[in-house]
Amino acid sequence: MTLRDLIVHKRDGGALSAAEWEFVARGVAHDLFPDYQVAALLMACMLRGMTAAETVALTDAMLGSGKSLDLSHLDCGRVDKHSTGGVGDKVSLVLAPLVAACGVAVPMVSGRGLGHTGGTLDKLESIPGFNTRLSLADAVRQVERIGCVIIGQTDEIAPADRKMYALRDATGTVPAMPLIAASIMSKKLAEGLTGLVLDVKTGLGAFLPTIEEELALASQMVALGGHHGCPVVALLSNMDFPLGRECGNANEVAESVEALRGGGPPDLRELTLRLGAEMLVLGGAAPDVASATAKLEQALSSGAALEKFRAMVRAQGGDEGVCDAPARVLAQPRITVPYVATRDGIVQRVNALAVGRGITALGGGREAMDDRIDHSVGFTMSAIPGDRVRAGDVLAEIHAADDAGAGAGRAALDEAIAIDDTPVVLPPLVSHRVTSTGVERLA
Ligand code: URA
Repeated sequence: MTLRDLIVHKRDGGALSAAEWEFVARGVAHDLFPDYQVAALLMACMLRGMTAAETVALTDAMLGSGKSLDLSHLDCGRVDKHSTGGVGDKVSLVLAPLVAACGVAVPMVSGRGLGHTGGTLDKLESIPGFNTRLSLADAVRQVERIGCVIIGQTDEIAPADRKMYALRDATGTVPAMPLIAASIMSKKLAEGLTGLVLDVKTGLGAFLPTIEEELALASQMVALGGHHGCPVVALLSNMDFPLGRECGNANEVAESVEALRGGGPPDLRELTLRLGAEMLVLGGAAPDVASATAKLEQALSSGAALEKFRAMVRAQGGDEGVCDAPARVLAQPRITVPYVATRDGIVQRVNALAVGRGITALGGGREAMDDRIDHSVGFTMSAIPGDRVRAGDVLAEIHAADDAGAGAGRAALDEAIAIDDTPVVLPPLVSHRVTSTGVERLA
């Protein structure tokens, strides 16, 4: 078997066997193939599609190219959450310690921001000293001790995916659904989970363009989890406009601490509770969503969730003072300028995609994986669609490193925000729930 033969077979519309995907993943993980051949195979997959059996085989092969976390000795459920990526989405920072405080272990392997979407690791790294690069052995020890950890993908976890994802990013082959499903699930299954909750974003700032495609992606990932004995529940949540008020990195950490104290913006709290309740049920810590929600609310109001976050920050080398006085610990922007409404009316949209691109223009996001980012910049949004505003009202604050950055931030908000006189009906925050039994429409 040669990789050239497999490329030709795929180019002509054939399907590769499990043994052939295994050959591909092993060769990629060990650098046996030139990038141009792997890229050609990925492009053939993108253009020709992949069967369900191939998607399972690729997931298995990428998972098997590395190691997995072994947490089977724990006497509690092990459940993670994965989001397809949004703007202002700091849910993971709140959710991991919150769910751990309720008795379900959360071994979370997260990503960095790319393009318009933010990344949990970047946000956490705005806490001075916070180390997201733990070995798998250290991650296991931390979960044993405090119940949660948030780390980045290491060379140990699905290394074939790590290399293929970098090639997809460089060759325009990221948006192929079977490749996305296999990529995400190979990493999640390496966490040794007993359950997984997916937050699949819909709307203007979503990764895929239509709700049909998002449902199809959710269903594929639910099926892949089922194939590995890992039950998966996917919620489709709206990302037309940013989640919460703070968009950036350090300012999102501050907002997460507020949410962990039981406050914070209502949409952030609601989504965290909806996802968290599914996690507690999957993890066996609550019999149903209603009692799971009550348990989560109690962990927020009692301070247990914040104390779990403090323990995680301390364990990963971060300055735990962030839990008491975030503004003293986190990098502050050099300049903050208001962005005001130029007319009376109703806010029609605050386009999440444009806001996300604005964060990158400010220096707080990255276009390429090795770009450096400025954690202090971003936006504080004070208007959401449906708000009635008057000319001169502050719609947002722009946090920038210099005047040029503030100008770029202003241009992004000009594109993102529209005001006129038409009444606005907000979309539901969570619209669908996908499980192995099918798709449930919630609103
Ligand atoms: N995130 C991933 O980890 N993989 C993809 O293919 C897309 C998003």
